[in-house]
Amino acid sequence: MTLFQADNIAINFGGIKAVDGVSFAINKGEVFTIIGPNGAGKTTVFNLISRIYNPTEGRLIFEGRDITSVPPHQIAGMGIARTFQNIELFEHATVLQNLLLGRHAHRGTKPWWEMVFAPHVRKSELAHREKAEHVIDFLDLQHYRDTLIVNLPYGARKVVELARALCSEPKLLLLDEPSSGLNTEETEDMAWWIQDIKNELGITVLMVEHDMSLVNEVSDRVLALNYGRVLAQGTPSEVQSHPEVVKAYLGG
Ligand code: ATP
Repeated sequence: MTLFQADNIAINFGGIKAVDGVSFAINKGEVFTIIGPNGAGKTTVFNLISRIYNPTEGRLIFEGRDITSVPPHQIAGMGIARTFQNIELFEHATVLQNLLLGRHAHRGTKPWWEMVFAPHVRKSELAHREKAEHVIDFLDLQHYRDTLIVNLPYGARKVVELARALCSEPKLLLLDEPSSGLNTEETEDMAWWIQDIKNELGITVLMVEHDMSLVNEVSDRVLALNYGRVLAQGTPSEVQSHPEVVKAYLGG
């Protein structure tokens, strides 16, 4: 069953076709990974799905609904969450406070700071805290729960960003280079988290990633881009042995 579909999407930046007629469909429950050389258009695809950019052509379909014109602030509430290549957290807030901000999509009209900083939380807000605590347990972040982000090692920040995205209870999770800046051991941990997110939480994952061992370990299907166009699509081994992908990206 298809959860998300990009149908012939395209966008230009000052004459450069950053994404040029890209189509793909993501099945519910799979890890779908986009690979390709620098400048291939991978992050731009993410920014189109997050609705940060408007496509000049094409349609985005999520759960059978056309979301091409949905404004960015409504995307999380619909069930799409993301992490960023450069971590975007509130550095002078604690891990728990950052995760409560991740609950923002479920907050209705109350201001977010009321939930995060109010000393006496209302009963209705306890549910948000419970959800955040559950995510803290799921990703083994108990040790860092009350630590300010600014005092965390880089690898832990990456996991907190993942946690914050999970707090919005997404159906589709977009991970932009989850292994960037991580050492080998942290990358292995990240592979475990991604597999647990898929298998235990049943969340569908769309990932952009350069580390091919991580790609192979967690991906069900892979899409290779180059110059904004699709080079190949298929299982990780099919895509990696595709002559065009070898020539443009993997070398050899
Ligand atoms: P990387 O692996 O380096 O992150 P990428 O595959 O994510 O690369 P994009 O960042 O999507 O590539 O960039 C695709 C092309 O679009 C590049 O030529 C880039 O310079 C250009 N581009 C991306 N965003 C913008 C923008 N906001 N304004 C102008 N050009 C842009």
